[in-house]
Amino acid sequence: MLAQTVTDNTILEVKNLKTYYPIYGGFLGRAISKVKAVDDVTFSVKKGETFSIVGESGCGKSTTGMSLIQLVTPTSGEILFNGENIFGKDKRKLKKVRRNIQIIFQDPFSSLNPKMTVKKIIAEPLVINRIASGQELEDRVVELLEMVGLGAHHLYRYPHEFSGGQRQRLGIARALALNPEIIICDEPVSALDVSVQSQVLNLMQELQEKLNLTFIFISHDLSVVGHISDHVAVMYLGRIIEMGTREEIYQNPQHPYTKSLMSSIPLPDPKAKFTKKRIVLEGDVPSPENPPTGCHFHPRCPYRTDKCKEVYPEFMKVTPNHSVACHLVESGQLA
Ligand code: SF4
Repeated sequence: MLAQTVTDNTILEVKNLKTYYPIYGGFLGRAISKVKAVDDVTFSVKKGETFSIVGESGCGKSTTGMSLIQLVTPTSGEILFNGENIFGKDKRKLKKVRRNIQIIFQDPFSSLNPKMTVKKIIAEPLVINRIASGQELEDRVVELLEMVGLGAHHLYRYPHEFSGGQRQRLGIARALALNPEIIICDEPVSALDVSVQSQVLNLMQELQEKLNLTFIFISHDLSVVGHISDHVAVMYLGRIIEMGTREEIYQNPQHPYTKSLMSSIPLPDPKAKFTKKRIVLEGDVPSPENPPTGCHFHPRCPYRTDKCKEVYPEFMKVTPNHSVACHLVESGQLA
């Protein structure tokens, strides 16, 4: 069951998305197993909103983002962009889709070619798509630089001459070059200092409002996600285990895993540490190659029952804007 009601202003619908990676081995080097990096993920995103995907490292959130624009090839599912299924499109059609869905990566330094000037880096998508040339191209690059708080005097500089925050601004300028409708932001501020993080986040929010952009924001940082999101999906071992509005997820988390994540957010009030109880989970995240039976979270869950070890819980609505996959929530024992 979906957490959100799909309405007319839905820009992206993802249905039963699976991305499995084969593991090769044995004498003949055949596929002997698979990692279920993304396993039956369903969600929808409204135009102009920020939809965040959170979870620990290895939960499948980045693979979900890359699967959406098929930088990795999904195994099955549907990805509806403005109502049209873009999964499995040929290269030409995919190129067209990628003009509308861009991505910003975590490490701006490695995603910018160190041998190219800023002008070439930002102009590249416009040149490849034959959108502008000559003076028009230069004017557009300067316009993009100014949109992200840089200027024409940066045109002939190289990425190493910029700070981390400025490099991420360059990444944003390049992502905006083709006037996309959606930007997938894969840990866009994780590599930055906290003070610079807020500057980049504020810039992103300003641009979102001005250009009516839709963000799919991927992060492990719950403070950042709480600041920027409209809807939040929590992932664990390739699956969404809880999803809802930011208010529902932050003020009324239901899944034991989400509760534990929320309890680990540092509070700005120094006195608050005496009132807030931290929930520490036992054990590490299991391998996605061999996930636990039943509810994948059961080896770490303090509330597990025998049923949890055998049956994967259904994704159930607890309010119209909030869904959870947990047997105890299902039976009303944990809410
Ligand atoms: Fe815990 Fe069971 Fe709920 Fe899984 S289904 S989160 S093991 S109580």
